[in-house]
Amino acid sequence: EKRPVTVLGLGDMGSALAGALLAAGHPVTVWNRTATKAAPLVAKGAVAAETPAAAIAANELVIMCLLEDRSVRAVLGAAEEALPGKVVVNLTNGTPRQARELEEWVSARGASFLDGGIMAIPPMIGGPGSFVFYSGSREVFDAHRAAFDVFGESLHVGEDPGFAALHDLALLSGMYGMNVGVLQAFALVRSAGISAVEFAPLLNRWLTSMSGFIERSAEQIDSGEYGKDVVSNLGMQTAAFGNFPRAGADQGVSFELLAPLQALMERGVAEGHGAEELISLIELLKK
Ligand code: NDP
Repeated sequence: EKRPVTVLGLGDMGSALAGALLAAGHPVTVWNRTATKAAPLVAKGAVAAETPAAAIAANELVIMCLLEDRSVRAVLGAAEEALPGKVVVNLTNGTPRQARELEEWVSARGASFLDGGIMAIPPMIGGPGSFVFYSGSREVFDAHRAAFDVFGESLHVGEDPGFAALHDLALLSGMYGMNVGVLQAFALVRSAGISAVEFAPLLNRWLTSMSGFIERSAEQIDSGEYGKDVVSNLGMQTAAFGNFPRAGADQGVSFELLAPLQALMERGVAEGHGAEELISLIELLKK
């Protein structure tokens, strides 16, 4: 017997989550502010509820996937009376503080709470590459894990309800940082009329080989030793970095995306870190 699940929010992601649960044989109740978005799921066997309160009342396990914290608050705030005894799992993107505050609010209304961060785009849900962070009570996580595993690999990252959002934002930081580089790389080659499609495999190859050094950087961060066995010192990298704005000016490509990193690198050199690896700049990011 598959556990019945309620899904609140049927945007691109919420619809993918509900669809995966249906495909795995779970009875699913859905609700969405714009009711028409429930139709494709109802056609696959879901039950559409008229209100968030009715959707929550239908099942013990309630999964939320809305735009942001404000919409989560609005939806739960309008359904308070249905919350006692429920297990609310918020898979909406948010901050650690939002998750901790929501956990307090939900607990005060007699429900259990887990926060989550989805590391997949909708077509990946239920497939091999997808994983989802969860934080909050390990016991609650274990009790409902079978349903979570439908979305992808389920990773419990801490009892602190803020930890899923923290891990999510950290991985997204890596993604957006990569995208900054990808944008700049394509802008440079396109400025010379080179085909992006022809260039893409080279970019992919380079990013893949560079990502292989993440573990080495992590060891340096945990040990605090940035000056041992240095292979690409910050002083050298800062000197070379000046070629980005120079080449950009010649080629007609803006330097705005990389300028903040250049400023941080120059500060690192000025503060005496020129002989260390670039990853030592993490010390300058502490506020
Ligand atoms: P969509 O923009 O497709 O959907 C947003 C959903 O939020 C809709 O169901 C919308 O309802 C609802 N909503 C917005 N404001 C309110 C409100 N005030 N009250 C009630 N409902 C509201 O976004 P996604 O489905 O793509 O994303 C949902 C969450 O999943 C986000 O937090 C996102 O960051 C996260 N996520 C998304 C990924 C993706 O690639 N799509 C990847 C990983 C995480 P309505 O239909 O009525 O507008």
